[in-house]
Amino acid sequence: MSLMPTPAVHIPLTHVCLTAGLLLTIACEGPQGEPGLPGELSPNLTTLQKALIGVGGQEALEGLASFSYTISGFDATFGANVSAYGSAVVQASFGNDVSYDIVGDRFRVDRDYRRTFGERTYSYSEIISGNLGYIDGVDSVFGVSTAEMPSARWGSTRKHMMLTNPHLIYQQILAAPTIASEAGVGLHDGVVHELMEVEDSAHPITLWINPSTGRLSKLSTMANYHLERDTAVEVHFHRWQNRDGLMLPDSVFVLVNSMLTHEEYRSDIAVNPELAADLFVFPPDAQPMYVEVEALWGAKSHQFHQGMAAVGLPIDKYQRTVAPSEPSEVATGVWFIRGPSHNTMVIEQEAGLVVLEAPLYPERSAAILDWIASEPSFDDKPITHAVVTHHHHDHSAGLREFVAAGASAVVQERSLDFFQGIMRAPSKVLPDRLEATKTAIDFETVGTMSSLTLPDNTNPIEVHHIPSDHADDMVIVFLPNNGFLFESDLYAPGFGGTLARAVELYEAISENALPVTTIFGGHGKSGPLSELAEYVGADGL
Ligand SMILES: [Zn+2]
Ligand SMILES: [Zn+2]
Repeated sequence: MSLMPTPAVHIPLTHVCLTAGLLLTIACEGPQGEPGLPGELSPNLTTLQKALIGVGGQEALEGLASFSYTISGFDATFGANVSAYGSAVVQASFGNDVSYDIVGDRFRVDRDYRRTFGERTYSYSEIISGNLGYIDGVDSVFGVSTAEMPSARWGSTRKHMMLTNPHLIYQQILAAPTIASEAGVGLHDGVVHELMEVEDSAHPITLWINPSTGRLSKLSTMANYHLERDTAVEVHFHRWQNRDGLMLPDSVFVLVNSMLTHEEYRSDIAVNPELAADLFVFPPDAQPMYVEVEALWGAKSHQFHQGMAAVGLPIDKYQRTVAPSEPSEVATGVWFIRGPSHNTMVIEQEAGLVVLEAPLYPERSAAILDWIASEPSFDDKPITHAVVTHHHHDHSAGLREFVAAGASAVVQERSLDFFQGIMRAPSKVLPDRLEATKTAIDFETVGTMSSLTLPDNTNPIEVHHIPSDHADDMVIVFLPNNGFLFESDLYAPGFGGTLARAVELYEAISENALPVTTIFGGHGKSGPLSELAEYVGADGL
């Protein structure tokens, strides 16, 4: 499915009209006859003064204590397509009710998501009160509820609400005017805008103010994506309407690296509604916790965590430690580290250590590196290689950390350009080790429908590229000396998965004539080959 924005998005009639107004100095009413739209503002006003007029005036803003609205729209994500070079793909449509109590510092979003993945509607509520949050209902496509909201998700959700409701930013400026400063001009939709930069705990936010009207056309900021790192985020506001003297947008669009990832259309907008206190109460047995470092991590990575939540695959738990129970030595020098959601293998060769898979984010790799440093049998050997099974962010976003630690990146050649871009990407929003190291970056590639061997007497490693509809750069890793196979997203030993993917794996093992004994999953556990054969309904190889 491709994303087709309505023509109104790209031809904002008010802008066309205002451009004409600048030339002809005619009083310009938008086609919606927007009430409260001022004419030409005096150029002598400061940008902040213009911005306040554009939103309905300081008094209206200061009087805003609560609001509510209903939204419908779409969410799109990127980073999990078949090719590494894909664009954002619509993954979910939604109809949500938002209730925001500014005075009580709490809000609630009642969500109905219709997702491509899972093919059904998910209804749940996100409740945030102060620095705690709770998710009531099943939000994940795996049929479970997040329940106590991890602080990363809390930080992400709060940031998203602030960026899509700019009057919250304006109220912060009124409370502490020194956080805002004039930041020159910029061109948007052919109109010169005055820019105002606002300090923010995650990253500064730039407000784009139309100097003729004081209207906020868009805001821009930077966010961290765990794989892509520094990423440009813009929020565009359209169809501002007068609601009890306050100007509020009816349409809000989020663009990430110029890709439309979130569009919402608002209705039933209420200013200062009575919101019942019990809307914001957690269930009696709920015990959410606030962890500041995780909250900031989520706030800096807001659109990543919002996007994953939207598709029903929340990745909010901060996996920054390897629990003592996670690593097990499954053969001499061969370690399987079973993480909470994603697994890793560490293979000891004579020359050094090879890491299979770099899941989640650099912080997870840092935890693996900490564990490696603490394992005496590795004898401080260097990490020579880090292999990723495919380009999807949740299996490769930790690669930068291993590269910074000196590893050569082993990727399939189709994704080489993509990963070269990833390794060069700036990471200033959330600096990682590679941002600080400026180390040389070495790649080794696995040819298309070919294989690469990392030779060793005890633990040689073969990396085979195989055909898969999940990702066109999919590789599986085989250890010929003990028949072990590592793979991701094809089959989860102990759990199963999508049958078509399991068949791909089974056929790849068969066609490459790999004498596999045991399969280790990037998800799930480990299990004998016979378990996969049974799952795909084969009689054996
Ligand atoms: Zn994948
Ligand atoms: Zn996966």
